[in-house]
Amino acid sequence: MPLPHDRPMPSYWLSFSSDLSKHRTTETVPQEADVVVVGSGYSGAATAYHILENDDGKRTRVVILEARDVCSGATGRNGGHVKPDLYFNASLYEKRFGPRAAEALTEFETQQVMEVKKLVEKEQIDCDFELVRALDVFVDSRVAGPTVAAYKNMKANGYHFPDDLHFVSDPKKAEQVSGVKGALAAFSHTAASIWPYKMVTHLLHRCLGWGANLQTNTPVLSISDLSDGSGRWRVKTPRGEVVTKKVVVAANAYLSALLPEFNDKIIPARGIVCRIAVPEQGKMAPHLNNSYSIRYGPQEYDYLISRTDGSIIVGGAKQKVLLDDAYWHNNTDDSQLIPGAANYFDGYMQRLFHGWENSGAKVTHTWTGVMGYSSDLMPWVGEMPGKPGIYVTAGFTGHGMPRILGCATAIASLVRGDVQYLSETKIPPPYWITKDRLRVKKNIAREYMAGSRPSL
Ligand SMILES: Cc1cc2nc3c(=O)[nH]c(=O)nc-3n(C[C@H](O)[C@H](O)[C@H](O)COP(=O)(O)OP(=O)(O)OC[C@H]3O[C@@H](n4cnc5c(N)ncnc54)[C@H](O)[C@@H]3O)c2cc1C
Repeated sequence: MPLPHDRPMPSYWLSFSSDLSKHRTTETVPQEADVVVVGSGYSGAATAYHILENDDGKRTRVVILEARDVCSGATGRNGGHVKPDLYFNASLYEKRFGPRAAEALTEFETQQVMEVKKLVEKEQIDCDFELVRALDVFVDSRVAGPTVAAYKNMKANGYHFPDDLHFVSDPKKAEQVSGVKGALAAFSHTAASIWPYKMVTHLLHRCLGWGANLQTNTPVLSISDLSDGSGRWRVKTPRGEVVTKKVVVAANAYLSALLPEFNDKIIPARGIVCRIAVPEQGKMAPHLNNSYSIRYGPQEYDYLISRTDGSIIVGGAKQKVLLDDAYWHNNTDDSQLIPGAANYFDGYMQRLFHGWENSGAKVTHTWTGVMGYSSDLMPWVGEMPGKPGIYVTAGFTGHGMPRILGCATAIASLVRGDVQYLSETKIPPPYWITKDRLRVKKNIAREYMAGSRPSL
């Protein structure tokens, strides 16, 4: 498993220039720390933030090591959509974990939207956070049929979907409510949109203010037991080694390069996103007050947020991405676009949305990024069995924004010793790292993403 590609392409989010981009708090890497955090994405930054926020004068020495520029992984390249899953995977989760556990998974994600909101308000983070309604619009009966049937069936059998979930069953209404041409049905619920890079760099600024040491362009090459009976770890980088009691590995798609236990457990999966805007001389287009997922068929969907400046961030293009496994599966090359998918978004708003036909809306930026797909679709959170002091929060399966903050808070409580076990936190049990879960050989990520498409 390689380290992150050393020349990633820029994304629209990364066009915001942060003074932390290439930050190194000290000229050399500190030789000792209390906690080393690997990765400066949302997971690494939020964990470091929560460790230091409640430090109570302990002066915990936190060193954050980032392989590339700050927050240049998935968090700096995603769709900015904080969208909990209130129903779509509920039947899958119910089958695997039972109805109460499935409800708890939904509740955890739903709560995250409000947790992010609270954090943004408390820290006064300037990151374009907006609370919105997410509209899941189905334009194809092959995916609408089974999804709606499962929803109705579960409801009839007493499954509790959140009250916030609203189902629009009439195609005419679905098209009217959503503005999406050819809508057959829609679900809506509360979600949020955000500029993730601005949020993360704000949190990192806070950490630096509390004494953290951030070293960008400093890839961790290995983490090994110091073997001197002290229970400490040696974290090796090309710029020197850090000896530490605790390591939080927040490297998401690249986790297995440092922890081989995750070789077949977290697989990199490349995705594509773009920004669309109406040029200044273009015609006014209706402002979209909602965020969207548009589902075209099994595994084929886009996700979209509307920004207050009228521009749109849209990702997915699965019809093109899934044409060849080599385009996405186990692919960590975020220096290149995905063949075929690059032009998918041309004329996108005009094709799909009523009122945009003559807008002249155009793609202004397109980029790729690398997600960490988990073998059982659940994130991996907790202390590593048999490796005391090594903590993981990773494998968000392209769906980290409504999960990461809660996971980071829990890992920080473990690291600080406020709690001993994840059972004392809000993390749902399917996320916990256990020996038994690590032993399972089955990997359903490819099937979940691509269905029965042949892998060319
Ligand atoms: C194209 C795309 C679109 C997405 N859209 C959405 C969306 O709209 N909504 C949503 O919920 N989720 C979305 N996701 C998923 C979401 O972005 C991720 O779940 C989330 O950003 C993961 O955050 P993270 O901090 O765990 O990982 P990352 O942001 O990837 O951070 C990991 C960091 O670790 C660093 N690193 C890796 N290995 C090492 C090493 N050996 N040494 C030092 N540093 C290392 C990396 O460089 C990286 O900066 C999308 C992802 C992609 C790629």
